[in-house]
Amino acid sequence: MSSDHTETEEARASFRVQASIVAKREGERLPASDIRGVVDDYVNGRVPDHQMAAWLATIACRGLDLAELTELTDSYVSGGERLHLDRMDRVVLDKHSTGGVGDKVSLVVAPIVAACGVAVVKMSGRGLGHAGGTIDKLESIPGIRLDLGPDDIYALVERVGMTIVSQSPALAPGDGATYALRDVTGTVESIPLIAASIVSKKVAVGASGLVLDVKTGAGALIPDLSRAGLLAETMLRLARQFGLTCGAVLSDMSQPLGCAVGNALEIKEALSTLRGEQVPGLWKACSVLARLMLQSADPTLSDPEADARVAKAVASGAAYERFLEWASAQGGDRRTLERPELLPGAKHVVPITAVRAGWVRDVAPRAVGMASVHVGAGRLAHRAPLDHGSGVWVTARVGSRVEVGQTLAELHYNGGDHDMAVNLLTSAFDISDEPVEAPPMIHQIFESNVPVD
Ligand code: URA
Repeated sequence: MSSDHTETEEARASFRVQASIVAKREGERLPASDIRGVVDDYVNGRVPDHQMAAWLATIACRGLDLAELTELTDSYVSGGERLHLDRMDRVVLDKHSTGGVGDKVSLVVAPIVAACGVAVVKMSGRGLGHAGGTIDKLESIPGIRLDLGPDDIYALVERVGMTIVSQSPALAPGDGATYALRDVTGTVESIPLIAASIVSKKVAVGASGLVLDVKTGAGALIPDLSRAGLLAETMLRLARQFGLTCGAVLSDMSQPLGCAVGNALEIKEALSTLRGEQVPGLWKACSVLARLMLQSADPTLSDPEADARVAKAVASGAAYERFLEWASAQGGDRRTLERPELLPGAKHVVPITAVRAGWVRDVAPRAVGMASVHVGAGRLAHRAPLDHGSGVWVTARVGSRVEVGQTLAELHYNGGDHDMAVNLLTSAFDISDEPVEAPPMIHQIFESNVPVD
C-alpha cells in the first residue's frame, strides 16, 4: 500500500470497489460517482491491482449500459492532458484501427486525406502479440521522430497537414493504467472495455471527426462478425456522447492485409500503394477509409466525388509527395524513402511453396503474424528490440488458384527462430480442391452522423 494515502482513504476506496464489484455481479447499474471514484482511486494508487482486476473482469462479464460506459470513458480521460485540435482553424480528423496483421492502412490513408486538403492527426501504438503497430513500422525509417508533444503536433498540422506520433502516456491516464492490467488479466477482449479504452484516447486528442476501422475475422481482436459489428456500434454511440463526429468501417482481417507483414516491408508496401500500385484488399480498405474521412470533413461529398478525389490524390503523386514531406518534417531520411531498397532488409529470404494444387481456402493471419514475430518483426518479450528488416511477404490470397511448387509466401529474416517461423507459415495455408470465394474486404460501413439503431 502506498504511504501517500491515509489508512482511512484506502479503507474507503477498498470498500467502494468491493461494493461496486458485488453490485455489478448482481446485475445492478453502477452509479456515476462509483465508476469515477473507482477509476480515480486506481489511477492514484488507492486501489490495488487485484481489486481493480476483479472490477474490470466483472464488467467484462456483465457489461455496461451507455450511461455507465460514458462515465467510464470520461473518467479515463480525467486528470490527463488534452489536445484541442477542434479549436484549430481547419478540420482535423483522427483515425483508429482495432489492429491486425499487415495493417498499414494509416500510412496510406493519412497522406491521401492530407493531400485532399483535410488535416489528419494520428496517435499510434506499438505491436501487440501477433498484430503489428504503426510506431514500430515507422521506426524503420532512419531519423524519424515520433515522440512529439502538443506544440509539434499543432505545428505539423499547420505546415504539412498531417502528423503520426506515438501515444502520450499523459492522454487518458485511466486507460493507460487499466490497459496494462487488462493485458495480463484476460480482459482485453471485452466490448465495453475496448470501447471505453479507444474512445477515451480519441476524446483526449479532441479531433473534429473520427473514423474507426473495426477489424473482423481470425486475426482481429474480436474475430466474430456480429460481435465486431456490436463493437463498432458501441463505439459510434459512445463517441457521439462526447460530441465526436464518428464513422466506422467493419473490415476484413480473416487473412493478412496486403502482402507485407513486418516493419520496413510494410513501409515499402505503403509507399508503392501511394505510388499507385493497387494491392488487392489493401487498396479497397484504404480507398473506403479515405472516402469516409473526406465525407466526415465535408458531408455534402457524394461517394463518386470523394472516390474521385482519392484517386486523383494518388494518380497525381500528391499523396506520395505528402508522405515524403511529412516523414522528412519529422526527421525521416527522404532519400531512403525515395529509394526504399535502402530501408532495412533481410539477408535471407526463404520461399514457402504449395505442396498441392488447388484454391487457397485460408491464410491464417495469427500464424503469419507470429511467424514474423519469431524472426524479430514483433516482440516475444516486453520492450525487446526489433529487427526492422524481417517479416513475411504473402503472395497468395484466399480464393487464388495455386499450382504445386508455387510460392505462397516468403520469410525474410536475419536471425531469430526461423525454423519456428517456417513451421508457422507452412501451417498458415490451407488449400482446397474446390474453388473458394474470396471474402469481402468491407463488411459494413457506418457513415458519420448517421444514427445507430
Ligand atoms: N486498442 C485499444 O486502444 N484499447 C483496447 O482495449 C483494445 C485495442
